[in-house]
Amino acid sequence: MPNRDEHQSARSYSSSPDEVSTFNPNLKRQASSRSPSARSADEYVSGILEGNRVVLSQAITLLESTRPDHQETAQTVVERCLPQAGDSIRVAVTGVPGVGKSTFIEALGPALLEENRRLAVLTVDPTSERSQGSILGDKTRMGALASSDDVYIRPSPTAGTLGGVARKTRETIFLCEAAGFDTILVETVGVGQSEVTVRSMVDVFLLLALAGAGDELQGIKRGIVEMADVLAINKADGENKTAAEEARSEYGKALRLLGEPESGWTPPVLTCSAETGNGIREVWTSIQEYCRYTKENGYFSQQRQEQSRHWMYQSIEETLRSDFFETPAVQSALEEVEEKVLNGTLSSFAAAQKLLSVYRRTDASD
Ligand code: GDP
Repeated sequence: MPNRDEHQSARSYSSSPDEVSTFNPNLKRQASSRSPSARSADEYVSGILEGNRVVLSQAITLLESTRPDHQETAQTVVERCLPQAGDSIRVAVTGVPGVGKSTFIEALGPALLEENRRLAVLTVDPTSERSQGSILGDKTRMGALASSDDVYIRPSPTAGTLGGVARKTRETIFLCEAAGFDTILVETVGVGQSEVTVRSMVDVFLLLALAGAGDELQGIKRGIVEMADVLAINKADGENKTAAEEARSEYGKALRLLGEPESGWTPPVLTCSAETGNGIREVWTSIQEYCRYTKENGYFSQQRQEQSRHWMYQSIEETLRSDFFETPAVQSALEEVEEKVLNGTLSSFAAAQKLLSVYRRTDASD
C-alpha cells in the first residue's frame, strides 16, 4: 500500500509555491524554494512571529502531515507560538450548504479590513479531498478577499476523521494568531457534526439560516440553533425580504423557548443579504457586542479554558484509539474476534475486553 502521508505531503509541498501565488499574488516575491521540512522549529517560530505568510503556510502544511517527524516539529512550533496566540476573535460561520457562507465572508471582509483587522479564513470540511479542483474552488470562491495582504485563506486539511481535521484547524488558529491575524473566521461545510466540533474551538457561533426552511428547527438542526450566539437569516433581498422577516420572527420565538444560554447572552436574530451587503455590518456589530458582553461577565475566558480542557481529553482519546488499532497484535486478533461477534459466539463486551487485553499485554511488554 502506498504511504498516504508521504504521498500527501509531497503533493502539498510541491503545490505550495503555486498555492501561495494564487492566494495572494503579492506574496509571489516572498515565496521560498526551500522545502518546509528543511526548516528548524526555531525558523518556523521566528518566521510566524514576523508575520511571514509563506512560513506560516509551510508550518500549517507540516501540521497537516501525519509523518511523525513533521508532527514532532509542528507540535514544537505550536507550543512555542501559543504564548503569542489568543488575542483575537474566533468566529464560526455556519449554516447549510448554499446558505451563503462564502458570499457572507466575502461581504464582511472589506468591513473588517476597514477596521484595520487582519483576517484569517479557515474551513473545516472532513469530507474534502485536497484535489487540485477543491483548492481552486476555494480560491475562486473568495477571490476578491484573497488579494489583500491582510487576509489569509486556508482551505480545510485533507479528509480525515472529523476530530483529526478539527484538531489541526484549532492548532492552525493558534499559528494564525501568532502571525498577527486578530479575526479568525472558521467556515464549516454544514453537515451537523462538524458544527458541534467547531463550536469547541471558537468564541462566537454565527448561524446563517434561510427563510422558508421550516424543517430547520427540527432534529439536529434544532441542536445547531441552540449553539448559535448570533443568528442571521441570509438572502433577505428581492422577493425574499418578507419571508426573511417572517423567518426572523419564527427563529426569535424558537430561541426564546430554548431558555437562557450559559453565556447569559440572548442571541439576536437578524436579517442580511450577503449579495447586496445589507445588514452585514449589523451582524458584525452583534458579534462584537457578544464578545464585549461575555468578556465582561467572564464567560469568554471561561469558555476558552473549557475548550482547552475538552481538547486535552479529545487528544487522549484520539491517541489511544489510533495506538490501539495500529497495534499489530490487535490487528491480527481483530478479524477472528469480530467473526465470533458476528456469528453470536462472543458478546460484544467480551470481544472488546479480549482485544483490550491483547493491547494491554503488548503495551506492558514495550
Ligand atoms: P455556501 O455554500 O454556504 O458557502 O454558499 P455560497 O456563498 O456559495 O452561496 C450559495 C449561492 O447563494 C450562490 O449562488 C450565491 O450567489 C447565493 N447567495 C449567497 N448569499 C446570497 C444573498 O444574500 N442573496 C441572494 N439572493 N443570493 C445569495
